[in-house]
Amino acid sequence: MHVAEIKGAVFLDLDRFKTLNDTLGHDIGDLLLKQVAVRLTDCVRAGDTIAHIGGDEFILLLEDLSPDAIDAAGQAESVSNKILHSISQQYQLGVNSYRSSASIGSVIFNGHDVSIDELLKQADIAMYQAKDSGRNTLRFFDPKMQEAINERVELENELRIAIEQKQFELYYQAQVDNSGRVIGAEALIRWRHPVRGIVPPFDFIPLAEETGIILPMGYWVLDAACAQLKLWQQSSHTRALTLAVNVSAKQCHQADFVDQVKELIAHYDIDPALLKLELTESTLLEDIEGIIAKMIILRKAGVKFELDDFGTGYSSLQYLKKLPLNQLKIDKSFISDIAIKGNGRTLVCTIIAMAHSLNLNVIAEGVETEEQQQFLKDNGCDHYQGYLFSKPVTIKAFEALFEPD
Ligand code: C2E
Ligand code: CA
Ligand code: CA
Repeated sequence: MHVAEIKGAVFLDLDRFKTLNDTLGHDIGDLLLKQVAVRLTDCVRAGDTIAHIGGDEFILLLEDLSPDAIDAAGQAESVSNKILHSISQQYQLGVNSYRSSASIGSVIFNGHDVSIDELLKQADIAMYQAKDSGRNTLRFFDPKMQEAINERVELENELRIAIEQKQFELYYQAQVDNSGRVIGAEALIRWRHPVRGIVPPFDFIPLAEETGIILPMGYWVLDAACAQLKLWQQSSHTRALTLAVNVSAKQCHQADFVDQVKELIAHYDIDPALLKLELTESTLLEDIEGIIAKMIILRKAGVKFELDDFGTGYSSLQYLKKLPLNQLKIDKSFISDIAIKGNGRTLVCTIIAMAHSLNLNVIAEGVETEEQQQFLKDNGCDHYQGYLFSKPVTIKAFEALFEPD
């Protein structure tokens, strides 16, 4: 057995190159090819390969793409779009300014399974489909992949519109303490799509992450959450509620993330201790020192931090000690294992004990049964969240959970 090595072959042909050669001559044509080669180099990663295979044709080999074929196609698409954009910028060819475009055919393949000849043939066919559909565009050889890409492009466009038109909404899922009292909520984003209705985050967060749309989206979530905390502050029975907000890795890695949070807190004039930022282990994979520095500043400003989905990712105990966290959230996969006596239970107990030894509060998510809650309670868990108490619901339904009679 071998590990899948997913690569992308990108076959690029300049549009109307022959006309340029015929009208301005081969020297000018060569100048263009050189400049195109430079631009291509700027669009790919260090390990990728670019070859000029003659005439106005280039082939690029993209290495180390995602093991998921559709995600890999998405990566090839984003490189191709970068290339199409770069190629379409103006060139200075001697005294002539010139504009060009390209047609791109792409194939995603497993590095071990395909012959180079077959690959070039497929990429060439896809490139001709790109020419046929009006040039300056990209086509995949595999129609299924093309269809998946079309859907992604459509979804991406719709997401951009959704940001502009504020089609998002926060749902609130109750968090309770050992006496069953609602102490706060986790804010979970929903997309109120004009045709499809309520779209769950799993259907759009991954693409939002990949395209960077997560940045304006995440900011909207933070803003909406702070606005809600402000509203809660105005009534005695909601004043002490905490609100947990999911923060994605990209969002946290922004240079001005700390300022964004501080400004929102100041703008809404809220108690920062009621705002809980949920980070996942994936946030800590890159520049962990930088993240710790940001967390320390925000902790000093009063904001709380929680590690979400604990136990599912790469958790280095070394770092866990260094992170200025307030709370660990035991991932729901461990909670559903409680029903099975044995290792599942042992893990949950170990996580709780470890968290407490690090002075961290523990919340369990995905609590669905009394049995699970009892087991967690018996083993020292502090807080709970799950369908047993409430699903994520609209603000109105959430507030109805603890309205005074
Ligand atoms: P998460 O942060 O782990 O959120 C918990 C998910 O578990 C929620 O799904 C919630 O509805 C679901 N859940 C809660 N209790 C139970 C239970 O008892 N049983 C089961 N089976 N599931 C339960 P949801 O709302 O679909 O959110 C999915 C994921 O989307 C979140 O996982 C989070 O990673 C992401 N997400 C949601 N809102 C945001 C956001 O505002 N920003 C970012 N960056 N990500 C978000
Ligand atoms: Ca969460
Ligand atoms: Ca979680």
